[in-house]
Amino acid sequence: MVSSIGPASRRRSVPVRVGSVVVGGGAPVVVQSMTNTDTADIEATVKQVADLARAGSEVVRITVDREEAAAAVPHIRDRLARQGVMVPLVGDFHYIGHLLLTKYPACAEALAKYRINPGNVGFREKRDTQFATMIEVAMHYDRPVRIGVNWGSLDQDLLAHMMDENGRRPEPLSASAVMREALVESAIGSALRAEEMGLGRDKIILSCKVSVVQDLIAVYTALAARSDHALHLGLTEAGMGSKGIVASAAALAVVLQQGIGDTIRISLTPEPGGDRTREVIVAQELLQTMGLRSFSPQVAACPGCGRTTSTVYQELASKIQNHIRKRMPVWRKDYAGVETLNLAVMGCIVNGPGESKHADIGISLPGTSEEPAAPVFIDGKKAMTLRGPAIAEEFQKIVEDYIERRYARRA
Ligand code: SF4
Repeated sequence: MVSSIGPASRRRSVPVRVGSVVVGGGAPVVVQSMTNTDTADIEATVKQVADLARAGSEVVRITVDREEAAAAVPHIRDRLARQGVMVPLVGDFHYIGHLLLTKYPACAEALAKYRINPGNVGFREKRDTQFATMIEVAMHYDRPVRIGVNWGSLDQDLLAHMMDENGRRPEPLSASAVMREALVESAIGSALRAEEMGLGRDKIILSCKVSVVQDLIAVYTALAARSDHALHLGLTEAGMGSKGIVASAAALAVVLQQGIGDTIRISLTPEPGGDRTREVIVAQELLQTMGLRSFSPQVAACPGCGRTTSTVYQELASKIQNHIRKRMPVWRKDYAGVETLNLAVMGCIVNGPGESKHADIGISLPGTSEEPAAPVFIDGKKAMTLRGPAIAEEFQKIVEDYIERRYARRA
């Protein structure tokens, strides 16, 4: 459910159209992701983009690092279209983007946005001309760009210049404060250069990615105060597993709560053989748990304790969550607003009935040594009591019936 409290107000940014998706200008925060396939491997990239899009990624970025990758892009776009996957594709360019975009016009045309890293666009005198070439291509094809600064590839000339200036101050700032200022300066300065060339502000998204949570909060707070460009948020190199999820959520939540951020990506390092779509699920869960968007019915589940000594409770909570994930693509297609549904699965009588009453549908399972009965609450009132080995299946049927009754079928 989208919360009535939350950020006092969203920062007003200039809206940018990326294919069919609007980023900024008060539009819902857009979830995006990035493939980790070799883009020259058309089949693998098409499959992963389709998986990411079906998981809910609204924009997908692909690496365009060499000629074979640039040549593959229009084929990837075509094959996705034949599968009905129209998600906008963003090309991630470093070092030779100016060459690839001019030598492969079909690539430039197939992409909905170009990502340019000002720190990786060329060195010294070549930097300005190569950056200018990419902006000219963007204007020619009427495409937006993301000017994406990253502290791992920050413009070293700019940083050195700012360090020198800082050294001459009566009270110099710390090196990390100068680095943060250089990130913001690189993003805004590059955007202004693009605008001077004629690229509209409604064609520019900015990002300044760092890998330390407190740095990210400071950088985006400064960036938002100094510009009205649409902003892409993400903690770079967030890491694996729970560390990556927690660090990304901690950083992005603080910034989003200030009303800052128009699109997000969670940069998780996948476990070996892990599923790339996890970064999409985490981004959706972050936005939904903050009450900023609704993607899927939410299941409130208690953590369990000494009152839930059997595995019945964990099994039921997991079965219900999996059932929702499996059924959601069908529900979303058939029922308007189904993503706002709230379920509660609770482990015992202590908080079970109370929490269940706050959900649309809640079930309170029997704790250890409680009577083996599971009261079900619908719209705050006790509706029935389930008993026996098929509680999970019966509860799923109750959920299906409730959705059919409550949500209007789409035409
Ligand atoms: S609801 Fe019951 S089982 Fe769940 S954490 Fe609370 S006391 Fe423990």
